[in-house]
Amino acid sequence: MAKKASKRVYVFDTTLRDGEQSPGASMNLTEKLEVARALESLGVDIIEAGFPITSPDDFDAVRAISREVRRPVVAGLARCVAKDIDRAAEALRDARKSRIHVFLGTSPIHRKHQLRKSKRQVLQMSIESVERAKAATHDVQFSPMDATRTEPDFLIQVVEAVIDAGATTVNIPDTVGWAMPDEFGRLIGRLFENVPNISKAVIAVHCHDDLGLAVANTLAAIKAGARQAECTINGIGERAGNAAMEEIVMAMKTRPDDFQDCWTNIRTGHLYAASRLVSRVTGLAVARNKAVVGENAFAHESGIHADGYLKERTTFEIMDPKAVGVARSKLVLGKHSGRHQFRRRLKELGFRLSPEQIDRLFFGPFKELADRKKEIFDEDIEAIVESEIVAVPETWRLCGIQVATGTGGMPTATVELHEEGKAEPVRDAATGDGPVDAIFRVMERITGVGLRLKDYQIRAVTSGKEAQGEVRLEAIYGKQTVSGRGVSTDVLEASAKAYLSAINRALNRAGRTKRAGRPKAAAKRKKAKSGKAKRSSR
Ligand SMILES: [Zn+2]
Repeated sequence: MAKKASKRVYVFDTTLRDGEQSPGASMNLTEKLEVARALESLGVDIIEAGFPITSPDDFDAVRAISREVRRPVVAGLARCVAKDIDRAAEALRDARKSRIHVFLGTSPIHRKHQLRKSKRQVLQMSIESVERAKAATHDVQFSPMDATRTEPDFLIQVVEAVIDAGATTVNIPDTVGWAMPDEFGRLIGRLFENVPNISKAVIAVHCHDDLGLAVANTLAAIKAGARQAECTINGIGERAGNAAMEEIVMAMKTRPDDFQDCWTNIRTGHLYAASRLVSRVTGLAVARNKAVVGENAFAHESGIHADGYLKERTTFEIMDPKAVGVARSKLVLGKHSGRHQFRRRLKELGFRLSPEQIDRLFFGPFKELADRKKEIFDEDIEAIVESEIVAVPETWRLCGIQVATGTGGMPTATVELHEEGKAEPVRDAATGDGPVDAIFRVMERITGVGLRLKDYQIRAVTSGKEAQGEVRLEAIYGKQTVSGRGVSTDVLEASAKAYLSAINRALNRAGRTKRAGRPKAAAKRKKAKSGKAKRSSR
C-alpha cells in the first residue's frame, strides 16, 4: 500500500441527519434512499442516516438505508438515554456495518440549563450509554456536544472515559460554530497530548458554519490529528449549516503539501452530481458563487482572466473542473463576447449547427438576450438553441406584446402577430382573468386557433434577478395534445411565446395554415391567473 493508514481521513456524511434538520430541507424516504446511494457511490465511509427515536419516519429511513447500502457504515443517532440507544440499534439491525452515535452536552451551559447534571453525572451517563450501545454493535461513536465551550480538562476526562468504555470514534463537535481555526486545532492537539488512550479511537470533528469557519475549523483539526471529518453535501445543516464535504475533500486534494498527504476515499468526480441531487431533493439552491460546486466556481468572465484561461487553464484555475465532475469550465458569455466565443461554446455544449444557423442565433436571440442580461450561462445558450432550432415552422410570429395589469384592475393584453406571407402584422387586444389569460385570449382571437390549456409550468432557467424564465405548456387542439415552450427574461413574454409555439405546432400538425375547419376558438380554457404566474416565476 502506497498510502499509510494514518493518513487516511474518514468521511462521515450527515446530510441525511444534520442536513435534513435544516429548515425546509426535509426529504421523503425515496429521496433519502436516492441520496444514500449517491453517497455510497461517492465513497463516503459513514452515512449518518437519521435519529431513529425522533419519529417513525426517521426510524424507517435508517432501517431502509441500512438495508440499501453495502459498503459504507450506517450510523444512527441517539441521546444518552436507554430507549434512544435501543431504538437506534433496532433501526440499524439489518445494516452490514452499523454504528450507534451517542451524544451528550458537556459544556457548563448544557450541563446547567439543558441537563441539570453535574460533571460526575454527565461522565457517568456517557460511560453507561457507550456501554449500552457497545452491547448492540462494536462500532460506537460518542460526541460531547458543545465540546468547544466545554472546560478542556473536563473534555479530556470525558474522552478518556468513553474510550475506556468502548467508544471507537470520539467526535469533537463545534456544535454552535464558536471555534476559531487555530484555537480548534490547538484543542485537538491538546487531546492528543493529554488523553492517554487516544490511539484506541478515531478522533472526529463536526463543525458548524455560524461564522463561516466550519471548513477551516475541520481542516485545522485534520492537521492536528483528527481522522474523521463530519460534513454534508453543499454544507446544509442546522442554522448556517455544517462543513461542506466538497470543500474539505477538494482542499486536501488540491493542497496535499499542506496536509502531509492525508487523503480521503471520496471519488471527487461524483461531487458535482451529488451536489445537484441534494439541491434538487431538498429544494435548497446552491449559491452561484459556492466553492467547488457553485455554477460560477469554474466560470471566468473578466477579459484578462478569460484570455489567460483560454491560453492555459491553470493560470486562473487551481482545480480541474473535471475532478469534481463538472464537464467543463463555464466561460460566461456576455454583451462583449464575440461570435467565435459563441460558436466555441455551442460546439462544447454538443450542438452541431451550420454556420448560417450559428449566425442567425448569434445576431438574433443571443444579441437580444445579451442586451437584457449581463451574463449568459450554458443554460441560457441551451434555451436559445432549443427555442430557435427545435422550433416548429412559424406560421405566426410574435412582433410585440404589451400587458397592463394592477391589483383589482382588469388585465389587458395587446399583441401584435405576423402571419407568414402576409404584408401587414395584425394587432388586437383582449382582457382576461389575469395577464397570462389575457395574452392567450388575444392570440386566440388573432389566429383563430382555440387551444384548451392542460398544463402550464414556469421555471427559472438560470438564477438571479435577470434570469430567463421558461414556460412550458400543454394544450388540447381538437383531439390532439400540442406542447409549447417559450423563454424570455420576461415571464409574460415567455408565456406568449409558449402559447404561440403551441398554436404553430397545432397548425403545422393539422397540415394547413388556413383558418378553415379549425376547432372553435371559444373552446374553454383552464385559466392561467396572474397571481399564479407571478408567484411561480422565480
Ligand atoms: Zn450538527
